Amino acid sequence: MNFLGDNTPTMYGSYDESNIYKIGKAQMIIDYQDNCNWTISYPETGIEEIDEKVLFYANRLRDNFLMQYKSGDVSNGTSYGMHVEYETSLESGDNFCLIFIDTITENEDTIISKNEYTHLFSILTGEELYNSDKAIGDFANIEDYSNYTSEETDQLELLYSDDIIKFATTNLNIRSQRSTSSEKLGTLYEGEAIEVKSSDKDWETVIYNGNIAYIKTGYLTKKKVLHAPIEIEVVDRGIDPSKPMLALTFDDGPSPYSTPRILDALEKNGVVATFFDLGQLVNTYPDIVRREEQIGCEIGSHTYSHKNLNTLSDAQIKEEITKSENAFIKALGHKTTLVRPPYGNANLKVKENIDYPLIDWNVDSLDWKLRDKNKIIQRVRQTGNFDGHIILMHSIYETTAAAVEELIPQLLNEGYQFVTVSELAFYKGNTVLYTAIDYHGF
Ligand code: ZN
Repeated sequence: MNFLGDNTPTMYGSYDESNIYKIGKAQMIIDYQDNCNWTISYPETGIEEIDEKVLFYANRLRDNFLMQYKSGDVSNGTSYGMHVEYETSLESGDNFCLIFIDTITENEDTIISKNEYTHLFSILTGEELYNSDKAIGDFANIEDYSNYTSEETDQLELLYSDDIIKFATTNLNIRSQRSTSSEKLGTLYEGEAIEVKSSDKDWETVIYNGNIAYIKTGYLTKKKVLHAPIEIEVVDRGIDPSKPMLALTFDDGPSPYSTPRILDALEKNGVVATFFDLGQLVNTYPDIVRREEQIGCEIGSHTYSHKNLNTLSDAQIKEEITKSENAFIKALGHKTTLVRPPYGNANLKVKENIDYPLIDWNVDSLDWKLRDKNKIIQRVRQTGNFDGHIILMHSIYETTAAAVEELIPQLLNEGYQFVTVSELAFYKGNTVLYTAIDYHGF
């Protein structure tokens, strides 16, 4: 049900007996450890960004409870229970307000504490706007958040951004001191959330089990970034998964000179490849892109204008993607399935801003540098076994076209099946796609 208008993500919700709209599906965590037991209710909104944070806070209530009351000695008789309920509401149209009400009892009957924790999330972005626990801001003052201009909301985000939840982009060591040789307190696994107090260029100061700890800067992001698997429907065209396969990829086109020649070679041999085309050139040569698709090739975006995405702002990265999307929609009637960032450059910020699988390569033909048919073939041939490999070439050189005209029949003779990148992911597993654009943990 979407009751907030067309551009708002749909949240779960239902009407209760008194016809009051309740946000979210109620979920519960019920468990115990030693002398402690707890029941935590929380809402699942259906908006992933919000749900991850809500679950994080629900678990944190449990952790804080255990830290304060757990004693391994059950026999001394005192038991503690925590019961967490919640209330939800919508504020200013597109903000979701969640209040956890946390009651702690001693020996089943005596209430020893009762606290409320308020969280405010933007339904549009999933970001947490307010958190009563942090004593930041005044709820009343930001109720009209949705009326602010985007510059004002950026300012507000900055204001509240010194104490936020971030997500691990890989498995990370949590250190006791600002040093990789200090004691390792634990591991934050890829995709897990942690509370960040402050960051500098070397270390992020985090809260781990209620204590200050440190994680190397550069591996936590505000938005959860995982190795996005390719989940693209692949048509069964008789590929035999038990036989070797490879994916030829061509960047930087379309070119009116060499791309048609490459397409002729593919068509003549009855094979396919994947083209990572530039939006700007797609606008100029839509017919060539259409022909790429007509002969069964996969089309990916190589951005609009081939900028080094690592050097751009969030908005500029998004612009490179959306302008390119529009070019493909105009030429083909649909978006592309994949993106290959220029130069293979995709830092964490780039990954946060692009919602496509980012495709790398593991055989570099160096065709842009060699510009000689035989040298290109020789270079590619240095990789002995091509099974499961993605070969990088560029569709804008005649020498590349010439090399491809010889390579394709050779490789066919050797028993290779030519597949698209999505087919390769489908038959070989996604791991083949993340060779160079990979994460490194500390
Ligand atoms: Zn390129």
